Amino acid sequence: LLTVRGLRKSFGDLQVLRDISFDVPAGTVTAVIGSSGSGKTTMLRTLNALDRADAGVIDIGSVSVDFAQPVDRATLARFRAQSGMVFQSHNLFPHRTVLQNVIEGPVIVQKRPKAEAIEDAKVLLEQVGLGEKADQYPYQLSGGQQQRVGIARALALRPTLMLFDEPTSALDPELVGDVLRVIKDLAADGWTMVIVTHEIRFAQQVADQVLFIDGGVVLESGPPAQVLGEPSHARTRQFLQRIL
Ligand code: ATP
Repeated sequence: LLTVRGLRKSFGDLQVLRDISFDVPAGTVTAVIGSSGSGKTTMLRTLNALDRADAGVIDIGSVSVDFAQPVDRATLARFRAQSGMVFQSHNLFPHRTVLQNVIEGPVIVQKRPKAEAIEDAKVLLEQVGLGEKADQYPYQLSGGQQQRVGIARALALRPTLMLFDEPTSALDPELVGDVLRVIKDLAADGWTMVIVTHEIRFAQQVADQVLFIDGGVVLESGPPAQVLGEPSHARTRQFLQRIL
C-alpha cells in the first residue's frame, strides 16, 4: 500500500534523510523508532508532502510520485489526500465544537455534503469514544480527548493510510492509555498506519513491523520481536538500552 524508495531530504547543509526505503503492506502497522533528531518526524512529513522530499519515489495507494522530478499541483493534491496525519498536539480550532472540527475538512476541502459529513463524524466520534462530546469545545476536553478528536478529524478525510507523529508524547501519562487504545482499535479494524513513537511497549503490542532510523537510513527493520527483542545492530541495542 505504501512503498518508499531512496527518500532524501536536507535542510540547508543538514542531510536528515539520506536514503530511506521501506514497504508498508495494506492493513499493517509500522512503528518508527530512533533517537531524537534522527529524522523520524521529517520522514513522516515527507510521506504527506508537508515537507517536500529532495529525491525518492513514494507510492501511496494509487498515486506514485518521483520527488526528483517536478510535481504538478493536481498530483500533489491527490498524493496528500492519501494520508491522514495526527500530530503531537492536535491543533483543533478553539472556537468550533468538536463536531465542527471533524467536519471542517470533508465539507470545506473535499466539498462533501454537510449532512453526510455530520453523519460520518458522529460515527467517528463514537469510534474514538467521544460520542457524547460532539457539541463541546476543545477547551472543555482533556488533552487525551483533544488528541482523539484529532484522530477523528484525520479519519474524516477518508485517507488510505494514517500517519501518527508521536501522538502521545505531549500528554500526561494517565491520558496516554486512552489514545493508544484508540490506535489499537484502528489497527484491529484493519487501518494501515505508520506511527512514530517512543512507546516501545506499545510498538511491541501493535506493530507488524518496526523501523529503526539512524544516520538518515533505515538501519534495521523487521517484526517487533526481532528489532526490539533481538536487534542485530549495536546502534539499535544502544538506543533501546537508553530508552528502556
Ligand atoms: P524527535 O524524536 O526529537 O522528534 P526526529 O527524529 O523526529 O526527532 P526531526 O524532527 O525529523 O527528528 O529532525 C531531524 C533533524 O532535522 C533535526 O536536526 C532538526 O533540527 C532538523 N530539522 C527538522 N525540520 C527542520 C526545518 N524545517 N528546518 C531546518 N532543520 C530542520
